[in-house]
Amino acid sequence: MTFTELSSYLDRLESTSSRNELVKILSDLYSKGSPEEIQPLSYLIQGRLVPFFEPVEIGLGEKLVEAALAEAYGKPRDEVAKLYSRVGDLGLVAAELAGAGAGTDISLTEVHARLTEIAYAAGAGSVEKKRSNFAGLLKQADAASAKHLVRMALGRLRLGIGEPTVLDALSFAKRGDRKLRPVLEAAYNRTSDLGMIARTFWEGGEEAVAALKVTVGRPIRSQLAERLPNPEAVIKRLGLVAVQPKYDGIRVQIHKNGDDVRIFSRNLEDFTLMFAELTRAAGALKDETLILDGEAIAYSKESEEYLPFQLTASRRRQHGIEQAAQDLPLIAFVFDILYRDGRDLTEMPYEQRLALVDEVIAGSTVLLPAPIIKTDSAEVLTKILLDNISRGLEGVVVKRPDSPYQAGARNFNWVKLKRHTSGQLNDTVDLVLLGYYFGKGKRAAFGAGALLAGVYDAEKDRFGTITKLGTGLSDAGWREIHERADKLQVDHKPARVDAILEPDVWLEPEVVVEVLADEITPSPRHTAGMVGDQPGYALRFPRIVSFRSADKRPEDATTVKEIAELFRQQRERKVPA
Ligand code: ATP
Repeated sequence: MTFTELSSYLDRLESTSSRNELVKILSDLYSKGSPEEIQPLSYLIQGRLVPFFEPVEIGLGEKLVEAALAEAYGKPRDEVAKLYSRVGDLGLVAAELAGAGAGTDISLTEVHARLTEIAYAAGAGSVEKKRSNFAGLLKQADAASAKHLVRMALGRLRLGIGEPTVLDALSFAKRGDRKLRPVLEAAYNRTSDLGMIARTFWEGGEEAVAALKVTVGRPIRSQLAERLPNPEAVIKRLGLVAVQPKYDGIRVQIHKNGDDVRIFSRNLEDFTLMFAELTRAAGALKDETLILDGEAIAYSKESEEYLPFQLTASRRRQHGIEQAAQDLPLIAFVFDILYRDGRDLTEMPYEQRLALVDEVIAGSTVLLPAPIIKTDSAEVLTKILLDNISRGLEGVVVKRPDSPYQAGARNFNWVKLKRHTSGQLNDTVDLVLLGYYFGKGKRAAFGAGALLAGVYDAEKDRFGTITKLGTGLSDAGWREIHERADKLQVDHKPARVDAILEPDVWLEPEVVVEVLADEITPSPRHTAGMVGDQPGYALRFPRIVSFRSADKRPEDATTVKEIAELFRQQRERKVPA
């Protein structure tokens, strides 16, 4: 397949606003790929060279791309810069400069290889090398290809293709329907690598995909927790439970392979460098290979206290990780083990896994076992919950002692119970910003009035609106929203968004905010959970509590399914038994 062919598909993907159409175009594209092409193709359509968990970015800055464009098309730098300020998108600048020339038939695999070389160039002279190699690629590209190459290089190829869409497209390409999605999805939950799954599928079919194993070095998609309204509901539903403190830090999946330790976040990013002290501690453990799951949390030596999420997350933004490790040391509470010495442990009952955790990290002062208390009494559970809250923790996570680790699943094997500051049990939801309305008065100065926000439908890989958001942010917060939103503006409704309301500006789904609301109500105006002529769901009195983009991708936002469950629980509470 030539890169020109790929580009014409990318153009079609970019201009469609229908999700079914996305799947169709993508499966069409896939069906044209050979087994060697399918892997790089899978990464390129998401604007990547490798899976998300590999920290390799093409990552050329705007200035460097401007210089490469000047070099490729023999234009003075300031002319390129002027064009950019007029058009506002360097991809379109590239297309305009490339003009109507046909470009050469450079293959997709070669483009992937050359972009990879650019991404890896390091050391003295590497900036010039990146520029001239990229200019070389542009010279060979037609207008559409130049546009997409530039967007890929800047990390701005946003076609709105989530993993479920890719999985659907793979299934369609091979057998004309969605039936193979569950097998492909299960493999994705175990390996987090769409490119490898696609190649395996092309080479060995469904059986080969089903045989893909958990491997050290490739993150497993995190098991997640459901919600229930109170301890009574938990005991009624689960019976005997293992109760653990809910630490308000950052989820970490620690992979040890001999001396090589890597740490992944909940959304599959490589956090190894940020968590230097955890990496060292894991490296010192006796076992050759391990995968541990836990929560990293900052600990203040002065006040002898665990610090809240926002402070732990501030480590991400700090330079000088070693200094940060001194000032704000991190520890991790390990609550699970998924792999040990070549053996996948995910099928083992939770209680047994936890016993292994104790054994594996015994003696470490940085990796600490998360304690459990077992109970089948709502009274005892209430006491433990209140006790944890009084110790400054977020609440508790309650787990079924006999449950396996279900990668990527959110179900009642794990249930979280939190308490909101108002005193009643009340959890926040994570919403994705989908658009905004021009503000009036003071807000107008920041460029955004009310925001349109939505939740994620994981089955369909779509976002439905659930509320407008107008309160909860400081002036600085509004300014931050505006700055982020500026980069995400699109001129038509993104393909994965369902909406009846029309904001003044549509946003590519990316920014995640944590929101507290009083109630969920049915609404004919919002599309979250809307089926046929049944109304969707809306939030009453929503207010923004925090930004969650540091640790959540839009696909990690609260799902329609969770909202439906919360709505059901709310109704049960209103009608006393
Ligand atoms: P939240 O925003 O409420 O932390 P989340 O969407 O990140 O939720 P959930 O699966 O809903 O994730 O809640 C469980 C989260 O709580 C885990 O992802 C993990 O980061 C954190 N956590 C803290 N302590 C524990 C524990 N003992 N066991 C499991 N998860 C824990």
